[in-house]
Amino acid sequence: MPHRSLEAIFANNQRWAEAIKSEQPDFFKTLAEQQSPDFLWIGCADSRVPANEIMGLLPGEVFVHRNVANVVVHTDFNCLSVIQYAVDVLKVRHIIVTGHYGCGGVRAALENRSMGLIDNWLRHIKDVYIHHQRLFDHLDTEEACDLLCELNVCDQVAHVCHTTIVQDAWKRGQHLTVHGLVYSLEDGILHDLAVNVSGMAEISTIYRMYSDQDMLDRLPSHRRRQLRDSPDTLR
Ligand SMILES: [Zn+2]
Repeated sequence: MPHRSLEAIFANNQRWAEAIKSEQPDFFKTLAEQQSPDFLWIGCADSRVPANEIMGLLPGEVFVHRNVANVVVHTDFNCLSVIQYAVDVLKVRHIIVTGHYGCGGVRAALENRSMGLIDNWLRHIKDVYIHHQRLFDHLDTEEACDLLCELNVCDQVAHVCHTTIVQDAWKRGQHLTVHGLVYSLEDGILHDLAVNVSGMAEISTIYRMYSDQDMLDRLPSHRRRQLRDSPDTLR
């Protein structure tokens, strides 16, 4: 691919803005006035994985956080601040953690070479590997890389759910579902990893900030009676 200059970027930008304005004259006026996205996207910083385009959404429709290998770390105030603002202020209804096959960060985590500071970040993905190590028996390198891309998404979905931000939202009855997807660079298709979580009862007890009783007290009385009759519902 030829190198592009910054001048080309400005020229592209002019064309893009004019094309949008000719299709929807009020687009930028509306955009400047407010954003009310339904989605928070947490994805990889990889230049081949642009959130809006993949989902067919326009600016203003998705709030985006990206880092190398779409990792959610409990002490990363950058990511936590994005989640908090998206959930508490923008009131997004879906948080989508999206990985992608062929992720360089995930591949590097499977190897034993040093690339500098980023090695420390990729330790979080090595942790995912260690947690699920037995699943990697008998896989070749490519299969292992694909599986780790998928498992990394599943673990990061759990990390999102374990934050106080998401649990506080569930406690006050806010509708919020956390999803895990993986994107294929080869055909541009998103795959659902079926790790959708939309309530406290779906996460491991050790990570819950509120007891079953706290949650039970919040429910309407008929639901409380129903759950009391089948105590296994709230694990
Ligand atoms: Zn990546």
